Amino acid sequence: MDMTTSASVPTGPDAATVGGTVTDRLVDANQRYAAAFTDPGMDARPVLHVAVVACMDARLDLHAALGLELGDCHTIRNAGGVVTDDVIRSLTISQRKLGTRSIVLIHHTGCGLESLTEDFRNELEAEVGQRPAWAVESFRDVDQDVRQSMQRVRTSPFLLHTDDVRGFVFDVKTGLLREVDPAS
Ligand SMILES: [Zn+2]
Repeated sequence: MDMTTSASVPTGPDAATVGGTVTDRLVDANQRYAAAFTDPGMDARPVLHVAVVACMDARLDLHAALGLELGDCHTIRNAGGVVTDDVIRSLTISQRKLGTRSIVLIHHTGCGLESLTEDFRNELEAEVGQRPAWAVESFRDVDQDVRQSMQRVRTSPFLLHTDDVRGFVFDVKTGLLREVDPAS
C-alpha cells in the first residue's frame, strides 16, 4: 500500500533545494498558504481543550493521524516526546492560562532515541569540552518510556488536571496508535 500523507513532497536529490535553500522553499510555500488563508477568528484557547505531547519524528503527522483541525489542540514536540521540565512548563501554561484539560502522549516505533545511550553526553563532552545539563532520555522499551512520561505528568504539582492523561505508541509502518496501559 502506498503510504501517502499530507506531508508528502516530491523526492529526489534536489527536491528540497530547487530554487534556493530549503528555507526559501518554505517561505515560498507560506506565500501560497497566506494567499488562500482567511482568518477563522479563533482565540488562542484550543477548541478540544487538549494538549498533545509527541516525538518530533518527521513521519508522525499529528493533525492527520488524529483528525485534528486548526485550533483544536496544543502540540508540544521534542526528541522522543519526553516529558521534560520544559514540556511541563508548556503544559502548565496550556492548562492554567489556555483552558486545556486532557493530555495525550505519543511516542512511536523506530524512535531515534532507541539507538542512543546516555553515553551521548560523554561523546559531546569529549568533542566540545562541555557536558550538557540535559539528559539524553534514551530508552529501550517504548511502552515503559510512555509509562514514565505519564507518571511525570501525573505527579507534576503545577498541573491543574491530571485525571485524563493517556499514552500511546504510534506505529510508523501502519499509522495506528496503540494505547499503553499505565499499570502494566
Ligand atoms: Zn522519535
